[in-house]
Amino acid sequence: MDFLSLIKNTGAYRTVKGDKENGRLSHAYLIISQDSDNLDSYLKIFAKAFVCDDGCPCENCRKCSLIEDERYADVIFYPQSSQTVGVEEINALIEESYLKPVESDKKVFVIKNAQTMTAPAQNKLLKTLEEPPKGVHIILGATSEHPLLSTIKSRVKKLEIPLFDKDTLFSAMEKDFPDLEKLSVAIACGDGTVGGVARNYNDENLKDITMVALDTLCNMKSSKDVLEYSNKIQSLKVDVADFLSVIELLLRDVLALIEKREQLVFNRPLAEKLVESNFSRGSVIHALEAVTDAFKRKKANATPTMLIEWLLFQILEGKYKWQKL
Ligand SMILES: [Zn+2]
Repeated sequence: MDFLSLIKNTGAYRTVKGDKENGRLSHAYLIISQDSDNLDSYLKIFAKAFVCDDGCPCENCRKCSLIEDERYADVIFYPQSSQTVGVEEINALIEESYLKPVESDKKVFVIKNAQTMTAPAQNKLLKTLEEPPKGVHIILGATSEHPLLSTIKSRVKKLEIPLFDKDTLFSAMEKDFPDLEKLSVAIACGDGTVGGVARNYNDENLKDITMVALDTLCNMKSSKDVLEYSNKIQSLKVDVADFLSVIELLLRDVLALIEKREQLVFNRPLAEKLVESNFSRGSVIHALEAVTDAFKRKKANATPTMLIEWLLFQILEGKYKWQKL
């Protein structure tokens, strides 16, 4: 997975790159990402950016490869012996911070899972964060800043890895997740993180949702069918929001196909099936508006049954109103 290309467009990356180029790398950064599965990979990119001589970072040099394997002498990762960061880990870090770097002018300490740092550990770290020995930089990585004491937060430069939009995720992930139909659905139902999309990609349920959504859009003909399809959808036993996301994805594809904006079509075979099943531009737009409305109604706590039945009636109404001649 090419995390660097993903990170390169973030403000967090641009900040660190700029700091390095101006010779003003901060003593301490806090990198926040909701992607608990990949936070470590993001932290490694930042650590490499600190010490790599050939780029920002090059990902190919000796230093970059060693950091990737957590074996570079001047970039040290914590925790080393447990899942959480306790006082012992911080004591080890502080002791190590007084030793000179082995081969460069910097020594970088990376604290993974900083959200698990105990309060005593955080208090221990304060002094080093404030006045680290010369050449020492500390990168804290956390999935959330809330568990961190305000005294910690006030001593670090806070950078956030944002949630990524659908197109960004698609182009970053398509090489490693080659079933593009599956990937587009996984992204549509994803939470904007690579980790969340990857979990969806491997979730067999999502394929079922797609098939039921397609079946509903193609084959539901009259209001007599609504109950049957509503039951089918609810028997999937998934969050209604996931179903809405898949329906939305399919409808957007159909619209792009009808409007001949082909480069925007994720899932061509399915979109073609839907066009054949008598969707016109007007009926797709009507259905998409209904989906947007359904998301709002869901937030307002509408029951799943009512929500789905309402949506299905809306889709039928649009198909009837804007039927192809
Ligand atoms: Zn490098």
